[in-house]
Amino acid sequence: MFSEPILHVDMDAFYVEVERLDDASLSGVPVIVGGLGNRGVVAAASYEARQYGVFSAMPMAQARKLCRHARYVPPRMSRYSEVSESVFEIFRSVTPAVEGLSVDEAFLDVSSLRLLYQDSVEVAVEVRRRIREELDLPASVGVAPTKLVAKLASEDAKPDGLLHVPSSHLLEYLQALPVRRLWGVGEATHAMLEGFGVETIGDIAAMTPATLASRLGKAAATHLHELASGRDPRSVVSNDGAKSISVEATYESDLHDLAKIDREILAHCERLAQRLRKAGYAAKTVTLKVRLGDFTTVTRSHSLPSPIDVTRDLWSIARELYSRIDLQSQGIRLLGIGAASLVAKGTPRQMALDGSRHQALAAATDRVRDRYGSDAVGPAALADAPEPERPIS
Ligand SMILES: [Mg+2]
Repeated sequence: MFSEPILHVDMDAFYVEVERLDDASLSGVPVIVGGLGNRGVVAAASYEARQYGVFSAMPMAQARKLCRHARYVPPRMSRYSEVSESVFEIFRSVTPAVEGLSVDEAFLDVSSLRLLYQDSVEVAVEVRRRIREELDLPASVGVAPTKLVAKLASEDAKPDGLLHVPSSHLLEYLQALPVRRLWGVGEATHAMLEGFGVETIGDIAAMTPATLASRLGKAAATHLHELASGRDPRSVVSNDGAKSISVEATYESDLHDLAKIDREILAHCERLAQRLRKAGYAAKTVTLKVRLGDFTTVTRSHSLPSPIDVTRDLWSIARELYSRIDLQSQGIRLLGIGAASLVAKGTPRQMALDGSRHQALAAATDRVRDRYGSDAVGPAALADAPEPERPIS
């Protein structure tokens, strides 16, 4: 048995490092990847740029003030996905138990490798070495008995490092960390905890669950107290990297016009349906994500008894979800539609909601697109549409 069977691998400044692979002149200088338009945000900042106070999700205008001389690069998501595939191939060649969290981050359960390696640190060293040698990229790894601690350790290992938290030092390591780093402690909880003098994770562990429950409610208190005491029973749940597929766009100016919004929803559904079918999946869950002018993000999901993959079905659900969002007369800054609970094609399933006609139409549409390109056919409502809104990300 490995006593620390969980690895959390996180690539360092992933988008920046991929850009550096393709353009050596970006090495050693501050690099900021992000939307270059007026309303763009920082998607990734190199460690050189972080020294100027630039960090991800910061408005680009602010980043430009802080680090005027940085190299600014627009994101190339398809290139990052491509490199991400290679990173995940390395993970999966090490162990089948890989739980991807994002393009550049995953948990690996390496307990099945105990006959091949002396301990899990040896596996972590190997993973880092292969990522460096095969892809020429830096990655940080946390090695720990639990998911929470492995993740915290990889953060502390950055950049380009490895941190091993042995079971025997688990509590000691956790206790000293600021309470903010515990999963489930958002801004509000943090403020409340600070209000009664809680600063470290150790402070939480030292409280009785009852005292904590009187302030936070039973569910949150139990959750935090368990984590703070080093108990995190969650196991690594393998996924194959295709957990969900989504389409989203951010708009140069907020969308207010209902007809325009509806057309955007339809266009998103059309693209989503196409991507689903191309990947060989149908979805049992549809999610609508809307970011309002004031940056509030609202999501609504609906799950179905049988999976769908045609535009019309996705659209009817997305519209229904949209009607449940209270816009409070604000405009829409970002609109996204996602498909989750994916089922591989060939799995028995019902026909589209109102019969097989739309499915046959979808198959025909896909064939035309394959031959003549993606603009060759599409829903009539889109054909009449004026110029589409220009997405900036
Ligand atoms: Mg990362």
